[in-house]
Amino acid sequence: MITYAIGLRNRFRGIIVREGMLFEGPAGWAEWSPFLDYDDATCVSWLRAAREAAVDGWPAPLRSVVPVNCTVPAIGPGQAAEIVRASGCATAKVKVAEPGQTLADDLERVEAVRDALGADGHVRIDANGAWSVDEALRSLKELARFDLEYVEQPCASVEDLAAVRRRTDVLVAADESIRRAEDPLLVKKLEAADIAVLKVQPIGGVRACLEIAEQIGLPVVVSSALETSVGIAAGVALAAALPELPYACGLATVSLFTSEVVAEPLLPAGGFLPVKRLEPDPALLAAATADPVTTAKWNARLARVESLKGRTG
Ligand SMILES: [Mg+2]
Repeated sequence: MITYAIGLRNRFRGIIVREGMLFEGPAGWAEWSPFLDYDDATCVSWLRAAREAAVDGWPAPLRSVVPVNCTVPAIGPGQAAEIVRASGCATAKVKVAEPGQTLADDLERVEAVRDALGADGHVRIDANGAWSVDEALRSLKELARFDLEYVEQPCASVEDLAAVRRRTDVLVAADESIRRAEDPLLVKKLEAADIAVLKVQPIGGVRACLEIAEQIGLPVVVSSALETSVGIAAGVALAAALPELPYACGLATVSLFTSEVVAEPLLPAGGFLPVKRLEPDPALLAAATADPVTTAKWNARLARVESLKGRTG
């Protein structure tokens, strides 16, 4: 059981260091890395996903590679274009609606990404629920000129997602509305989305995601929860096991880390990731190992969540 702490190249979800735990079971290496602002109850499904990876293994893949998008944080247009060009991906996901920034910032960034990709590329945006319905509609009206593939989580609530979807031509994807919701299928009931974003750790494993995918009846985009390559491999396993995979997945996030724990990180080549299991490299793992205080904090967190999981099944 190893606690890691790895720096991020840019601030992401307000953090500059990613922390989590890595451990090996009979089926292989697993990652458990719920964000630090999540309470213990939320972390139970993340632990289920890690147990599946370590103990049960994943369902057989239906494909040997999966297409991925690059991710552009809320940075300036020059840097944004640079990320897109360096990635080699034909699809880019651009963060918009960042607190403290304006629609003008979003327009500049999305325009730079569209120019870098060319007309054949796909540009999707993610507001992480930051807009009101009116703000979303106003912003989408402007941003739509860059030919958006879809907008991810324009508003926070499922009701507001549905309201936006009824009044825009841009396709709507639900992310937080599925993984942080009490009822992930409310999105389906309210016809709030065209696409479902699924993340293995928050939802509780590859099989749990496959079940939701079947029940929700929408095309799925598999995304990461900003894991090391060990955790990303679980997302790749889900993408490889889905009956259909019409969109590029948000699994090319390893490049946001300043270092890695495996010798051959899951970085895209020509816009694709290979489907494979990964083992940490001992020297890289040692270099990424957190200090004793951080390790103690994670050991205590794991013990609390394990006992909670024991009670809830
Ligand atoms: Mg998202």
